[in-house]
Amino acid sequence: MEKLLVQKFGGTSLADAGRIEVVADIIANTISEGHKVAVVLSAMGEETDRLIDLAKSIHAEPNLREYDALVSTGEQISVALMAMALGKRNLKAKSYTAYQLGIKTNKMHGRARIVDVKVEKLIKQLNKNVIPVITGFQGMNEEGDITTLGRGGSDTTGVAIAVALQADECQIYTDVDGVFTTDPRICPKARLLEQVSFDEMLELSSTGAKVLQLRAVEYASKYDMPIRVLSSFSEGTGTVIEEKEDMERPVISGISSPVSDAGIDVDVIVQNISADNTTDFTFTVDQSDASSAEQILQDTSESLGGGSIEVDDDIAKVSVVGRGMRGQSGIASKMFQALADHEINILMITTSEIKISVVIQKDLREKAVNALHDTFQLDKNLDT
Ligand code: ADP
Ligand code: ASP
Ligand code: MG
Repeated sequence: MEKLLVQKFGGTSLADAGRIEVVADIIANTISEGHKVAVVLSAMGEETDRLIDLAKSIHAEPNLREYDALVSTGEQISVALMAMALGKRNLKAKSYTAYQLGIKTNKMHGRARIVDVKVEKLIKQLNKNVIPVITGFQGMNEEGDITTLGRGGSDTTGVAIAVALQADECQIYTDVDGVFTTDPRICPKARLLEQVSFDEMLELSSTGAKVLQLRAVEYASKYDMPIRVLSSFSEGTGTVIEEKEDMERPVISGISSPVSDAGIDVDVIVQNISADNTTDFTFTVDQSDASSAEQILQDTSESLGGGSIEVDDDIAKVSVVGRGMRGQSGIASKMFQALADHEINILMITTSEIKISVVIQKDLREKAVNALHDTFQLDKNLDT
């Protein structure tokens, strides 16, 4: 059966000219199976990092409009090269920037949200059997200025295009075989998951599994667009993220762990009253926001006439996530026991209905992830 697919490819999948040829073959193969494809691309390899470093070398806090104008250029290179590579395979293809298509966002430079996607142009091209090759990560605001969607934002472009086109599936091609029980680069026993629900993937992404940008999962969940994560380096059917009623789920599905410099949200908040009747208030923020947070607190603290401020950037957050945690008791104590057995101190704790996160010392992250993976037996498929 003919399908309409969006295929998004990440930076590692496009690291050099050779990889662009491999990806062009994957797209050509999908077309030869009779499907229609719209392609969304990230920048090649570490191009976005290079552009960010370049900006910072000119100005420590670059003007945000110009920052977006700069860092969005990586994607433009990828799409033009891909259209050429597809042309070489006798396929009709055209590259498009977000501006050319009218991918509208709000005005938040550097972390804009998509508000509207025009698809008339895309549908016209698809109907003429032209493969549209679209820049991920970027949009335009009301003023017509270029915006970017935050790191990993091409995933969100992929989903937004899939939703707007009412595609059958949004395929996210990356450098691992799909979504694993934890980052396979940290835990050798990590197991590939065949299927993950939206709520579990939301927790995994929001606690640090960068395989999918959180916003992409939110968008897909809102519009019920199935996502398939798969590898551009090997064969396989990957992981499907979709909603299924009454799924039989293992208690814990995954563990995620960003280190502080990879970004921790303001979600871990602890307050306690000390013996001398002062209040300690502790919370986490993204490393990149640490100095501005400190400044704000300094100002507030002075106006309130109180206390001192300490910043600790040597922390990591490790989370266990699983839908089956609902109505199951004892998960937290099992987690804390496992960490205690490995002499890992818990600095802070936060929970949601299907997640428990602990903040620990940064250099214990790998030890903690592996210990918890063993404790919850995630290397075994207990589904069946
Ligand atoms: P891309 O360049 O394709 O967008 P990313 O680097 O953004 O790829 O995301 C893929 C990476 O996500 C993997 O290489 C892996 O190290 C990491 N990752 C973290 N947690 C997970 C997980 N639970 N499952 C799979 N990959 C994960
Ligand atoms: N190129 C952008 C980044 O590196 C967007 C993406 O890869 O999804 O963050
Ligand atoms: Mg990514």
